[in-house]
Amino acid sequence: MAITVLIPTPLRPFVGGKDALELEGENVGEVLDQLTSDHAELRKHLFADDGRLRSFVNVYVNDRDIRHLEREGTRVGAGDTVSIIPSIAGGTAVAESLPKLSHEEILRYSRHLILPDVGVEGQRKLKAARVLLIGAGGLGSPAALYLAAAGVGTLGIVDFDVVDKTNLQRQILHGTDTVGIPKLESARRRVQDLNPNVQVELFETRLTSANALDIIREFDVVADGTDNFPTRYLVNDACVLLGKPNVYGSIFRFEGQASVFYAKEGPCYRCLYAEPPPAGLVPSCAEGGVLGVLPGIIGSIQAMETIKFILGRGELLIGRLLLFDALRLKFRELKLERDPDCPVCGRNPTVTSLIDYEAFCGVGAEPVYDGAEVTALDLKQRASRRCGV
Ligand code: ZN
Repeated sequence: MAITVLIPTPLRPFVGGKDALELEGENVGEVLDQLTSDHAELRKHLFADDGRLRSFVNVYVNDRDIRHLEREGTRVGAGDTVSIIPSIAGGTAVAESLPKLSHEEILRYSRHLILPDVGVEGQRKLKAARVLLIGAGGLGSPAALYLAAAGVGTLGIVDFDVVDKTNLQRQILHGTDTVGIPKLESARRRVQDLNPNVQVELFETRLTSANALDIIREFDVVADGTDNFPTRYLVNDACVLLGKPNVYGSIFRFEGQASVFYAKEGPCYRCLYAEPPPAGLVPSCAEGGVLGVLPGIIGSIQAMETIKFILGRGELLIGRLLLFDALRLKFRELKLERDPDCPVCGRNPTVTSLIDYEAFCGVGAEPVYDGAEVTALDLKQRASRRCGV
C-alpha cells in the first residue's frame, strides 16, 4: 500500500530533486525509516543524533500534525499523504526565502534585533508576514498601530465605516483631522506615517460570505476586531475552512477577553458557542458603553499574540480564554476544549462552506447588532440562564 510523502523544496536535492515519493509502511516511523534508508543523506536533516525528529521539522499525516496524533507511531494507510514541513521557527531554508532588511529597517527595529527571540531572522519573518485586521475600530486601532510599528510587512484592513467624533474616545488609529472620512483612509495615513515600510491593503467592504474566503485566503493571520455576531461567526468559519489562526478579542463595558482560535491546534469559536444568541438579547456597545482604555489593552494583546504566532515563539492563547476585569484589574483564564461535535471543526462538520450569517444570527432588515461589542463570558452566562442552568 503506497503512501505519498511530500518533500519540501530545501530537502529535494537529497532525494534526486523529487517533490514526492511513494513509500510503504504501517506508521509514520516506518515510512520515515524507509525514506532515510533509501536516501541516507536526508537522515541528518530530519533526525538529531539521538534519533529523535529535529525540533524544526514537523510531520503531517494528511492535514494533522503527528505531534497531536501518535507521533511517529501514527498509523498510515494507502492513499494517505505524509508531509514534511520545516517549521516556521527555524531552519536556514526558511530564512533564505525571507525578505532582507534595509539599513533604515535595521536602525528602526534595533530594539527588536537585540532581543534573542526576535533577532534578524524574526524581524525578517515579521516583514514577510501578511496580517488581516477585521475592523479599524476600538480593537483594530491598537492592533494596527503595534503591528505596523513592529514591522509586519503587509497589513490588510477590512472596514466600511466613516470616522465619527464619538469614535475618538477609544479608536486611537483616527484623529480629529480625519473625522468624516473613511476609517480605511484614516488608518492608511496613520500607519504610513508610523512606518512607511508597511504595505497597507484596504478592503472597503462589509465582510460577507461572498468575499470572506477570497480576502482571508491571502493572509497568514487574522485579527478579529469585529463588533457583531454575524461577522464573528463568518470570520471563525472562514478561518477554520482555510486553516488560518483567528486572533480573537472582545470588550464590553469594563470587561474584555482574548483567545487564539486555531482549529489546526485547538478549539474554534464555535466549539465555545455553536450558535449565537437570539437577536436583541445582548445589548449593543451604544447601549452598554465601553471604557476607552479597555480596547487598547485587549487589542494590544491581539497584536502580541499575532506577533508571537509569526515568530513561532512563546505559548499562544490557543485553548485558553483570557478574561480581563478592568475594575478589579484582574486577569483570569479559562481552559477551552475542542468540541468533537463542533459544527465546523468537529469530526463530522455540518458547516463545510460559508452560510448566510445574518439569517443565522437572526438579524433582520434592521441592523440590530451595529456597534454591538459583547464578551463571550457575558454571552455564556446569558446562554446558561436561558437554558435554566
Ligand atoms: Zn470548532
